[in-house]
Amino acid sequence: RRVGYAIVGLGHLTLNEILPAFGQSKHAKPVALVSGDPEKMRKVAQQYGIKASSCYSYQTYDQLKDNPEVEVIYIVLPNSMHHEFTIRGAKAGKHILCEKPMAVSSKECEEMIAACKKAGKKLMIAYRIQYEPLNRMAQQAVRDKTYGKPKLIQMVNNQNQAHDQQWRHKKALAGGGSLPDVGLYCLNTTRYLLGEEPTEVSAQIYTTPGDDRFKEVEENVTFTMRFPSGVISQCMTGYGTFNNKSYMVHCEEGTIKMDPAFTYQGLHQERVHAPKGKQLKETPNDPQKDQFALELDHMADCVRNNKTPFTPGEEGLQDQRIMEAIYQSAKENKPVKLPAVAKIDAFR
Ligand code: NAD
Repeated sequence: RRVGYAIVGLGHLTLNEILPAFGQSKHAKPVALVSGDPEKMRKVAQQYGIKASSCYSYQTYDQLKDNPEVEVIYIVLPNSMHHEFTIRGAKAGKHILCEKPMAVSSKECEEMIAACKKAGKKLMIAYRIQYEPLNRMAQQAVRDKTYGKPKLIQMVNNQNQAHDQQWRHKKALAGGGSLPDVGLYCLNTTRYLLGEEPTEVSAQIYTTPGDDRFKEVEENVTFTMRFPSGVISQCMTGYGTFNNKSYMVHCEEGTIKMDPAFTYQGLHQERVHAPKGKQLKETPNDPQKDQFALELDHMADCVRNNKTPFTPGEEGLQDQRIMEAIYQSAKENKPVKLPAVAKIDAFR
């Protein structure tokens, strides 16, 4: 029996990626919707064969507790709403899959973890890159030291933000600008590739004055993370430049490049090394799996077989703590040390 999901929020990500991805999923199915727009919800429910009695508003959301078809709630709302809907969802006795960024403060993340723990429910953060096959191949090569020790990493996640992205430009709803929205990929993917936690960050922020998109949230952030192994990762994220979503891992004997690395489709990996003194470029085949379907199936497997998700709440909390240190570093114009944490890494 497939695991039944309730999807909360019918915005772009839900309509364009998540609901279509159920078609590729082997173990999950959409069985309920939650939205503030009843007319939109009626149409979407009809399209996906969801019963009218399984459509809820944000006010009636808690009644999901009486719907036995729903096992997982997938929260796809603006960032500042993740906290409330995770806690209410856990109280309704459901497992939670929550979009990134987990919340808008580390205190909120801690409360979400505690609420799911108290309810005896699983909490997964939707870090799709950690389920995407080409990025997993890059991780394997880094961890296996296929090209020797990794030494330096460069990551970029830039986009030129549209002017109509209302909630993403509001600090209260988004929590921040480019950093929590797209810069988070640089941070989370570096940690994922290395399986280490940073010990120090230093950061700079610049926001173009007078740009109406950035009255409340930051435009550009660069940050450098130091790791216990000695690896230095330099990351940059921007909300006002042409798309670039790529990284390079520089190892002793070769370089792994992903460009693009963070898009939904069309990812590309290239490895450059010189096995017998002769430079070689290799391009692993992209298995072209839907990242969202892989994520939905992973959570379904965790529910059915009582496993901890690869990207649990603790993973989102750690990123949030690092983002807070990045903001602090930029504000104080000096490096910020990070406390040691237990290894949060399921891919061992
Ligand atoms: P969106 O603006 O397209 O959709 C947000 C939905 O929330 C809309 O249906 C809107 O009606 C609803 N909503 C409820 N209360 C709202 C309020 N007070 N203000 C504004 N909207 C409100 O956004 P999206 O791009 O679908 O993003 C939703 C979540 O998914 C965010 O947390 C975002 O970071 C995350 N996201 C993740 C990925 C990914 O690749 N994993 C990609 C895009 C978005």
